[in-house]
Amino acid sequence: MDLIVAKFGGTSVGDGSRIKKAAQSVVNEYMKGNQVVVVVSAVNKTTDELIGLSDEAIGAGLTDKQKAEIMAMGELTSARLFSATIESLGVKSEFIDPYNDLWPIMTDSNSLEAKIDFKTTNIKIEGIKRLVNQGIIPVVCGFLGKGPSGEITTLGRGGSDITAFLIGHCLEANEVIIVTDVDGVMSTDPNKIESARLLDEISVEEMRDLATHGAQVLHPHALKYKDPLISAKIINFAHGDLTSKGTRIVGPYEGEMLKCVSLYKNPISLIAIVGEAMVKKVGLFAGLTGCLADEDINIFGISAGQNSMTAFVDKSDSNKAYHLLHQFVVENDVLSSLSLGRDTAMITFVSPDIIDTPGIISDITEPLRKNDINIVEIISSQTAIVLFVDWKDGEQARDLVNEVLE
Ligand code: ADP
Ligand code: ASP
Ligand code: MG
Repeated sequence: MDLIVAKFGGTSVGDGSRIKKAAQSVVNEYMKGNQVVVVVSAVNKTTDELIGLSDEAIGAGLTDKQKAEIMAMGELTSARLFSATIESLGVKSEFIDPYNDLWPIMTDSNSLEAKIDFKTTNIKIEGIKRLVNQGIIPVVCGFLGKGPSGEITTLGRGGSDITAFLIGHCLEANEVIIVTDVDGVMSTDPNKIESARLLDEISVEEMRDLATHGAQVLHPHALKYKDPLISAKIINFAHGDLTSKGTRIVGPYEGEMLKCVSLYKNPISLIAIVGEAMVKKVGLFAGLTGCLADEDINIFGISAGQNSMTAFVDKSDSNKAYHLLHQFVVENDVLSSLSLGRDTAMITFVSPDIIDTPGIISDITEPLRKNDINIVEIISSQTAIVLFVDWKDGEQARDLVNEVLE
């Protein structure tokens, strides 16, 4: 017997026949002897419509608290509809909304981007567990939370995905299934490029990065709660079948944590190339990476300024890379000179929180400043910060950055 959390997005409950099809797919799993918890989003574009209505009626005077209460009506309605449809198919069901005593998801008081109180939620989940053990199918409102004064909060647009993974984690479910309007995760948004191909699987890390950079198919914060032992997949509602294949989200594997700090084992050499107005010249990056790739030299990072580009390579490759890039410089009119810099230590800080934690870069660099450690280069993206410091400072810098993570 498996415990499954199935989340239905807006399109998958977009009209009466879709709701019936979705409820039937849940009942089918239940009849096989599995336990199912449903998480449901607002029907179709209801959330957008509610926002539109309140903008028209009230405009700037609308408070965040009022907006959350109004948006919540989407999920309050869909959970009732879904639960009643399951009952019409002959199986007991209860809708669970923030007004219900069994509601588990507690948050801070931020109405529109509420932060989850994981500890309390993990305790309150017992109520849902009890229902499931009584053979009842709970239908939980996605997207919503309950603040410290009992008020409704929301987890941010697209937040039902977070609800699903959070509940899956707290219930120690076997599987989280995200039911949506595409076959799974594709090589890109299929609504933008028609020839997009379906992926059989994607790692948690890749999915998190894809989502963080705007692929709507899953909320970027949902995977924070992905337990390595829970299997997860994204499938199309059109199949009306929770066993459909779709795309499996795999990992994180043991030892491959979502948040980590690491020090690369060898020194990294910085090779800087300078030239006049390089930023305006087409193809310089391609030239640089091409000539190193031809000789099988791995590039750990590249940074660029108006008049310079720097390539980061393993010290064992640095001499070869230096000579190859020298050839590249003399053959290129725009480029004038290059230098092989000192040996640096590369420290990588990976965390899904980078994108929405103001001041995280200063949190990391401040302890280094206090300890007189000079940062030679810093490269940051939405989920990783890579620091280069003098090789001799590497271990101390790694330990200092590690303290920030803890
Ligand atoms: P739901 O309402 O079910 O949560 P969303 O609209 O939030 O659905 O997410 C599904 C949409 O994500 C798809 O319709 C598609 O346009 C978009 N999308 C963006 N990038 C991708 C991708 N790489 N693979 C699949 N879908 C993607
Ligand atoms: N209904 C909410 C929204 O449209 C949450 C969700 O669909 O996940 O943002
Ligand atoms: Mg969504």
